[in-house]
Amino acid sequence: MTTESAAAPVRATVYGYPRQGQNRELKKAVEGYWKGRVTADALRATARDLRRTNWAQLAGAGITEVPTGDFSYYDHVLDTTVMVGAIPDRHRSAVAADALDGYFAMARGTQDVAPLEMTKWFDTNYHYLVPELGPDTVFTAEPARQVAELKEALALGHTARPVLVGPVTYLLLAKPAPGVAAGFEPLTLLDRLLPVYAQVLADLRAAGAAWVQLDEPALVQDRTPAELNAAARAYRELGGLTERPKLLVASYFDRLGDALHVLAKAPVEGLALDFTDRAAANLDDLAAVGGIPGKRLVAGVVNGRNIWINDHQKSLTTLGTLLGLAGRVDVAASCSLLHVPIDADAERDTDPQVRRWLAFARQKATEISTLARGLAGGTDAIAAELAANRADLASRTASRITHDPAVRARTAAITEADGHRAQPYAERAAAQRAHLGLPLLPTTTIGSFPQTTELRTARADLRAGRIDTAAYEERIRAEIREVVSFQEKTGLDVLVHGEPERNDMVQYFAEQLTGYLATQHGWVQSYGTRYVRPPVLAGDVSRPDPMTVRWTTYAQQQTAKPVKGMLTGPVTMLAWSFVRDDQPLGETARQVGLALRDEVDDLEAAGTSVIQVDEPALRETLPLRAADHADYLAWATESFRLTTSGVRPDTQIHTHMCYAEFGDIVEAIEHLDADVISLEAARSHMQVADELAGAGYPREVGPGVWDIHSPRVPSAGEAATLLRRGLGAIPAERLWVNPDCGLKTRGWPETKDSLEHLVEAARRVRSEI
Ligand code: GLN
Ligand code: ZN
Repeated sequence: MTTESAAAPVRATVYGYPRQGQNRELKKAVEGYWKGRVTADALRATARDLRRTNWAQLAGAGITEVPTGDFSYYDHVLDTTVMVGAIPDRHRSAVAADALDGYFAMARGTQDVAPLEMTKWFDTNYHYLVPELGPDTVFTAEPARQVAELKEALALGHTARPVLVGPVTYLLLAKPAPGVAAGFEPLTLLDRLLPVYAQVLADLRAAGAAWVQLDEPALVQDRTPAELNAAARAYRELGGLTERPKLLVASYFDRLGDALHVLAKAPVEGLALDFTDRAAANLDDLAAVGGIPGKRLVAGVVNGRNIWINDHQKSLTTLGTLLGLAGRVDVAASCSLLHVPIDADAERDTDPQVRRWLAFARQKATEISTLARGLAGGTDAIAAELAANRADLASRTASRITHDPAVRARTAAITEADGHRAQPYAERAAAQRAHLGLPLLPTTTIGSFPQTTELRTARADLRAGRIDTAAYEERIRAEIREVVSFQEKTGLDVLVHGEPERNDMVQYFAEQLTGYLATQHGWVQSYGTRYVRPPVLAGDVSRPDPMTVRWTTYAQQQTAKPVKGMLTGPVTMLAWSFVRDDQPLGETARQVGLALRDEVDDLEAAGTSVIQVDEPALRETLPLRAADHADYLAWATESFRLTTSGVRPDTQIHTHMCYAEFGDIVEAIEHLDADVISLEAARSHMQVADELAGAGYPREVGPGVWDIHSPRVPSAGEAATLLRRGLGAIPAERLWVNPDCGLKTRGWPETKDSLEHLVEAARRVRSEI
């Protein structure tokens, strides 16, 4: 091992860059390839161009060491699976026949073969493909792509550092392959995997890599002593190799905790650590272990996950402290820039004042390089940049957008009573029973009905000016009439208006609340070729006018049955947006909670007796460390209660959750104090019902009896079987009958049949009680 000395110039670097291209060229090329309109060669050429453009953009911004291997046609964890030869058996023949087609088959499945499972990359909105491993897995080193990309960058004259998913994180993210016992722990394959990484490292070294980065973000989660031992062993072994590049072990998204001790002692040449607020403890922890003298520290001081400009003065202070704790210090973003859009300068419609507060990937690269120059040459070397940064930060703090006195006064005046309903659940339930007069096992849906081409066309027509608002709204009303009359005919008990006016469950509300901004080009990868454009929660939030009331009341005018009002809850409004970094998240959540409370109160005043506040994201924004859960759940549930606690006892509050397992947050669900919760349950055969019952959950529950993720129509018998299973856990007085989630991605034919079956199932099971 060589020693890293402070004499080396400070480098500016990143761990990854958005892959899609300024105009989402990669999405177009990949989807074109799937449709047969783009050849494999053309796709490869587009990819090469994008990599070249990205490296040039980074170098142009002053990044002196660029990443390679961060590019991907679909997902970098899938690329790692290919690199270590862990192709699932069912995909082997396709991969052997054609590597590219086989790769996409693993990602998306084919007519005959299921894809790999997809899940969220830590607590981001990026989804990776889960490796499937078993005791028979044989790893082989296949680093051709990583080697080729490194050579590409070097040939273009860049100083380049390959970035790989580290072996420990790779195994910790894997799951037992189908057919392998659930108890199988992929980490037991470490000894088999390490020689493969050794080979990959040797190949990269031979191709010219001075450094290779191994990403180990799984080490920022709570890890057992055995897992930490495995990490120690992995880096002892890789560090002990002779034919290898220098190793930089990176972590991000949170503090390393005990794992910092392990990595600091490992025989590797460098560590890359997150020093943003959520990982701030890394600084003291690093000092506590005596620093990493003689080693390279890559300091992730620029937040790689938010879209706000950095506070340079604060970063320079951190960097100054770090200088005393390592042989040399380089500057980076806290994580790959994959999680932010490419270029804030493209946001021409955004108020120029506000645009100065924004930093997307390109701007962050410039910030990193500025800080590297400041660290090397002192503040004088970047005096102009520091002054501009101070001015931009000050304008943000002083702005009416970020500090609305009326909003501030309102949150400051929140009382304990505002977050609690006036009567306990049992009394409310009785009042609601009397008020609503529903049958046992009441049937309902989760909110949206099919978003038909006609609806999407109407929205596009409105945007393009081909129809006026009046014509558009008449189409929405016509849709509502149809949806309501269908539900009446089918015999559902609590109806919905179908959400035809909503493009997206967050965007629709963001567009109507103050404090939110939309971006024109702010796309970020969610998975594969799917990109999302999250709204930016930039300022203080209020609701100037009712947002949903007229649609809900219009629906209610068409029927004597209760129509359920439908809102997106405060936690989900935050989770699927870029949030502020200039105040605690809980404060932002309180503001959103109060704005939505106005809507809930107005719905009630307009005659709505059932109001659903969706919180599908409650589980997914749970912090990575268990020690942080209580704080998060406290503000998350409080903001939900602020939204829902202003109503009368006989008004029934529903909530809905999906996309996750909820067994570990039953207590938090209870703290929402909602009267009814509907949950995704069909695929897991009502397991959540058992979990809720097992934890003593005392309220009404609607575990889904129709998996809405595919066009498949469940029979009435099937739905009835699930319902009976639900009855085994939840008494009939507290059991609802509903699908897993909204129906916006479904077509009308399967929606009609499935809902008829669902109602029929409820009738059958009622008659058995
Ligand atoms: N009410 C929403 C709908 O039905 C809920 C969507 C969701 O849970 N993701 O579409
Ligand atoms: Zn849902």
